[in-house]
Amino acid sequence: MDFDLNPQRRRELWEALLAQLEHYYAHTSELPASPPLHREKIIALVEQFKLDKGIPPQQAINHVLEGMTRYAVHTPHPMYYGLFNPRSTFPGILADTITATFNPQMAAWSHNPFASEVENFLVRELGTKFGFPKEKVDGVFASGGAEANLTAVLCALNHHFPDYANRGLAGISQKPVMYCSAESHHSIVRAGRISGLGLDAVRSIPVDGQQRMQAEALARQIAKDLTGGYHPFLAIATAGATGTGAIDPIPEIANIAGHHGMWLHVDAAYGGALILDEDQKLLLRGIERAHSITFDAHKWLSVPMGAGIFLTREPEILSRSFRITADYMPKEAQDMPVTDPFTHSIQWSRRFIGLKLYLSVLFFGWDGYAQMIRHQCRMGSLLKEELRESGWKIYNDTELPIACFMDPDHEQTPGFARAVTDKVIGSGKAWISVYPAAGVECLRACITNYASGEKEIRELAALINAARTEIRAELT
Ligand SMILES: *Cc1c(COP(=O)(O)O)cnc(C)c1O
Repeated sequence: MDFDLNPQRRRELWEALLAQLEHYYAHTSELPASPPLHREKIIALVEQFKLDKGIPPQQAINHVLEGMTRYAVHTPHPMYYGLFNPRSTFPGILADTITATFNPQMAAWSHNPFASEVENFLVRELGTKFGFPKEKVDGVFASGGAEANLTAVLCALNHHFPDYANRGLAGISQKPVMYCSAESHHSIVRAGRISGLGLDAVRSIPVDGQQRMQAEALARQIAKDLTGGYHPFLAIATAGATGTGAIDPIPEIANIAGHHGMWLHVDAAYGGALILDEDQKLLLRGIERAHSITFDAHKWLSVPMGAGIFLTREPEILSRSFRITADYMPKEAQDMPVTDPFTHSIQWSRRFIGLKLYLSVLFFGWDGYAQMIRHQCRMGSLLKEELRESGWKIYNDTELPIACFMDPDHEQTPGFARAVTDKVIGSGKAWISVYPAAGVECLRACITNYASGEKEIRELAALINAARTEIRAELT
C-alpha cells in the first residue's frame, strides 16, 4: 500500500481539491443556508462504501464534498445569523492546511520552538491588549471556550486551595462555591461538574432587565454563603453573553470579588474581540482587573474552529495547576527558560492552534480586524433598525450585533417565535434561532459573518417579515 501516493497523483488531487474548495468559498451564498434533515439519507450516504478495500481517491474526495455541501448548515453563508459560528478567514484556512501538513507536535517546546513562540507572542499581544501587565501575561491556546473556562475553574481552585492538587476536593475542609450569571455559558456549569465541585457549588446569579448580572444579588449571595459556612473562591463575569450579547458589570463584580479575595474570571469568548476597537473597548472596562480571561479566536475573529485562548496575569498558576513530569518527554530545552506547553494545559499532544490567528493577523493586522468588528456592529444596528421599522420590538440591550426580537402583538401567542423561525429556516434561505430574552420567547439573529452586508441584512428582514405574515394568516 502506497500511503504517500505519488507526487503526480498528489498534485492532481491537490489541484482538483483546490478548485472545488475555492468554488465553495466563492459561491457559498448560492447554496441553501440550511439543509433538510433526512437522517436516513445522510446515514445511507455516509455508509455508501464498504471500508475494507478503499475507493479511488478522487471519488472519495467527491463523496465527502457532496456530503458536506448537501447536509450542513452553511455557517460560512452570509445569511447564517446564528451562534457565533463565522465564515473562516482565508488565511485561517491556509494556516490549517499548513498545520495539517507539518503536523507540529506542540507538547514540548523543543520539538516546535517556532510554533510555540508564535503562540506565546499572541498570548502576550492579547493579554496586554486586555490590559494585563506585560511581564505577567501568561496563557495557553485551547480547543475552545469550554476548555478555557474549565482551565479557569481549575486555576482558581489551585490558587485558593493549595491542597486541591494533591488531595483533591476531599482534602479541602471548606465548601468551595463559585458564581456566574443566569445568562452565562453552560460550559461554566459543566466545569463545576468536571472539576468535582458539583453543580450545587455553582451559584447562578439573577440578571437585570438588560440580561446583565445583578451585582447586588452577587454580593447578597456571597454574604449568605459565608454565613452558611461556604468558601466563595471564584466569580465569573460574562462579556458578551451567548444568547443576548449582554456584558456583565465587570467593575462592580471586580470590586466584590476583590473584597472577598476571590479569583475573577471574565468569559469574553465572543465579546472579547471588542478590545481590538479603540472606541468599543470601553464596553469591556474593568476586564484588566480579571485574574483570567477566556477568549475564542474562532468566534468574532473568524478563524476556523477550534481556537480558544486562556489568558491570565498570574504567571505561575498554569504550571501549578497542570505540571507533571514525564520521563519520555523531550528534554533538549531543559536548561532554557521556556515552558513546555504540555505542562501548562489540559491538552497533552497539541495542534498548532495559534497559526490560524497568527497568519490572519499577518494578513489583515489588528487594525483590519478592528474595521471588520465595526462593520459587523454597523450591520447589527441596521438589522435592529429594519426590524423596528417593521413593528418588531428588540428585547435585548447590547452594542453587539445580536438582536433578540419579537412582535409585541404576539408575545402571548404560544409558539409564535418558533413558528416564524422554522419558516425562515425551512425556506433554506437563512438561519436564525429562538432565545428567551427578558422573559419573552424571541427570535434571535446575530451577525457572525464579516461578508454579510446591507443587501443581506435587508434580505433577512424581508424574509422574517414575510414569514410573520404567513404565520399570522395561519393563525386566523
Ligand atoms: C461559545 C461560548 C463558550 C464556549 O466556547 P466553545 O468555543 O464553544 O467551547 C463559552 N462562553 C461563551 C460566552 C461563549 O459564547
